[in-house]
Amino acid sequence: MRTAFWLSGVAALVIASVLAAQERPGSPRPEVRSARSRPALDEIRGNEIAAHVQFLADDLLEGRAPSTRGGDLAARYLAAQLALLGYEGGAADGAYFQQVPIVETLVDTSFTLTAGPGAPFRFLEDVVGGSGIQEPQVRAAGEVVFVGHGIVAPEYNWNDYAGVDATGKIALIMVNDPPATADEPQLFGGPALTYYGRWTYKFEQAARQGATGAILIHTDESATYGWPVVQAGWSGTQYAIPAVEGAPRLALTAWVTDRAAREIAKRGGHDLDALRRGALMRGFKAVPLGIQASGTINQTVAQRTSPNVIGRLRGTNQSEAVIYTAHYDHLGMRELKPGEPPDTDRISNGATDNATGLAGLLEAAQAIARARTRPARSIYVLFTTAEESGLLGAAYFADRPVLPAGAWAANINIDSLNMAGPSRDIVLLGAERSSLGAIASQLAAETDRVVGPDPAPGRGYFFRSDHFPLAKIGIPAVSVGEPIDFTGPDPAASKRFWEEYNAKRYHNVDDEILPSWNYDGAVNDMRFLAELGWRVANLPAKPVYHPNEQFARPRAVTN
Ligand SMILES: [Zn+2]
Repeated sequence: MRTAFWLSGVAALVIASVLAAQERPGSPRPEVRSARSRPALDEIRGNEIAAHVQFLADDLLEGRAPSTRGGDLAARYLAAQLALLGYEGGAADGAYFQQVPIVETLVDTSFTLTAGPGAPFRFLEDVVGGSGIQEPQVRAAGEVVFVGHGIVAPEYNWNDYAGVDATGKIALIMVNDPPATADEPQLFGGPALTYYGRWTYKFEQAARQGATGAILIHTDESATYGWPVVQAGWSGTQYAIPAVEGAPRLALTAWVTDRAAREIAKRGGHDLDALRRGALMRGFKAVPLGIQASGTINQTVAQRTSPNVIGRLRGTNQSEAVIYTAHYDHLGMRELKPGEPPDTDRISNGATDNATGLAGLLEAAQAIARARTRPARSIYVLFTTAEESGLLGAAYFADRPVLPAGAWAANINIDSLNMAGPSRDIVLLGAERSSLGAIASQLAAETDRVVGPDPAPGRGYFFRSDHFPLAKIGIPAVSVGEPIDFTGPDPAASKRFWEEYNAKRYHNVDDEILPSWNYDGAVNDMRFLAELGWRVANLPAKPVYHPNEQFARPRAVTN
């Protein structure tokens, strides 16, 4: 012990004198200076990622569901690792945990929707519904107004609520974006889905307009999935965070089938197809249908709590920061089905989704902490809870973001690492939306890589992980996606690996650690992302959304 201590003391003296020599004034050593001010990227290693994943994806953690013993164990582990790396607690009062209240509601299947004269619409068969008000019984009633796509988008000079007072009304709304036209091929992102097209936006906007309820019209084409998906999504327990005090809320949030929507329009004396055609054009005017709709939501309401884990490495300027995110929750355990043997695997380990992301982010956090200088802006690491139940941990953080929304230079989100082998491309969803993309592309060019495009912009993946609530408050954000340009000895095998994962393992009990995992791609990507965050933390100016981006606006307000 004593010898080792003495030796390390000598080593420290030697290192200190070498450093002192390098820093002598009048001997410019730019290469040394740049080496000193970089994250320790070669300390990001596959065996260390594997070690973290071994713990976090273990059966003992029972699938890391929020507010379960396994989920809490994961949170404790992550906080301990952050502390070991020298990150202090980044939540209020220097704590590592930001407690997130999660409200669970289950709507009684007796729910029906009445609209005008005629039989009420039945739960699941014609309509699914819930409420933005988390009380055991909520009554909603109001006149039905067809509001087209229900969009207010100044940058496209589009306002479906123009000239109508939606206060106390029930809005009947089409999902997806209005289509681009020959004259305006980039209207609403062209073939890409904008956030204006997402069903969550439709509810948010109707609430902002003062509506008492909103009914979305389902079609296979506009939703990109069938009615059974809507039924399944809305028939079980629903999860939400409590509404911010004073924020507008809808008493009724519902979807109806196309058939039911046609019937509602007919009862108001209108043809739904004609209404929809009118809504494709700028200047559309909302159409009051002259009939009342009403429904009573009876629901059980329960509240739980689960922590976000937040660590902070102080920069020299602590009033601004870069934030990394990765969700630690997963789907937990399913019930044993009748007839299944008791030792059936019921645990969704979430090894890829998102134990790899947690492990990779711990490695990046380590590389940054072991740089020999502090970054200019602080570095925050946020391990979120309840991503799988609707980005709730991230949404709660976005409501209470520790620093003002305008203080965050960028968010880098990691949801599942690439375990299929090295790739030239690193797909960063959202890179094209802000100047963060150009910074990433510059870094890629220096490291013989490319920033790959969103492989399916029509599917709206940018809206489906934890960076998105942060983007909504104006923080330039990117999220790592699935690569396509594999560079290992057998690129076709890497492609097959991803296909198999998406088809069989994703959100299934089979998302486990595999002997076939190749850590090279994950290591390359995390080195890239550690360097990216470091650069952004040290740039003179913060990245910004491009002026026509939907997410540029809240920033302009909060800055
Ligand atoms: Zn995930």
